[in-house]
Amino acid sequence: MSDKLHRFLLENLNIRGEWVSLNNSWQEIQNSAKYPKAVRHVLGEALAIVSLLAESLKFDGSLTLQIRGTQPVTMLVVQATSEGDIRGIAKWQGEILDNTPFSELFGAGTMVISIENNPKSEARKSKQYQSLVSLEGDSLAACLIEYFAQSEQLETQLWLAVDDKSVAGLMLQSIPTEATANDSLDMNEKNNWNHATILADSLSKDELLSLDVKTLLHRLYHEEDLRLYNAKSLRFKCSCSQTKIDRMIYALGEADANALIQEQGTIDVDCKFCNKHYVLDQVDIARLFSKGFTPQDSIDNSDQPKVH
Ligand SMILES: [Zn+2]
Repeated sequence: MSDKLHRFLLENLNIRGEWVSLNNSWQEIQNSAKYPKAVRHVLGEALAIVSLLAESLKFDGSLTLQIRGTQPVTMLVVQATSEGDIRGIAKWQGEILDNTPFSELFGAGTMVISIENNPKSEARKSKQYQSLVSLEGDSLAACLIEYFAQSEQLETQLWLAVDDKSVAGLMLQSIPTEATANDSLDMNEKNNWNHATILADSLSKDELLSLDVKTLLHRLYHEEDLRLYNAKSLRFKCSCSQTKIDRMIYALGEADANALIQEQGTIDVDCKFCNKHYVLDQVDIARLFSKGFTPQDSIDNSDQPKVH
């Protein structure tokens, strides 16, 4: 199965939905580290979530979910662009038992979801929106559902499944109507919402992972007016590049860059998303700080590579 996302509409119920399935990209993302099972699980769920959210927002840019934890998982960051490029990585310390619950993975962690508009399409500098999402829930999905309920006043429900081959996700969201704009759902809308979510609750994780979108939606919603939109394809793609690394070193300044070269012989930079290793030597540094080099005006910090 390829990596794709479908939007759909349950027209008579006034509910929109999305379904995502990640296979090849999930394999590639798992290659970046030998993840303990519990970490792999939450990383897969996070990838499904950013893929679903990036599509539901219908913007041009990237959506990043980042958790900074204390321990055992110190960092998890996943990103999806509106074009369908996804990437992600997690870092942890020590041994993590397979059955470690979500609530014990990140310690006193914080979760931030940020949205960055593509500066090219906006013809101006990139703009960032950040939201702090509480980590107090018994799963990543539960945290997001609570966030939507609190901040967006939108009924949202997520069903996620992860194994070592694939990741799958289903999302339902009530469509705000004029009547509900300032109020919660009315009785009819509540019934519709309950009906749709109870049906989705009947899906097993195996079914979510293995069924294609048409079979799955037919099984759940064959009695509803279902409109299924064309697939959007997704892929693993890291946006790191030598140019971005050059810009980052340039931003350090010539004196600091030379000091690092003096100390270590080379400057080594690892991309945190794909573990690609970049090495700059004395000649590279001389080239960077010669007159010919002009860095772009904005430095992309989204990669936050680590110089060492
Ligand atoms: Zn990379």
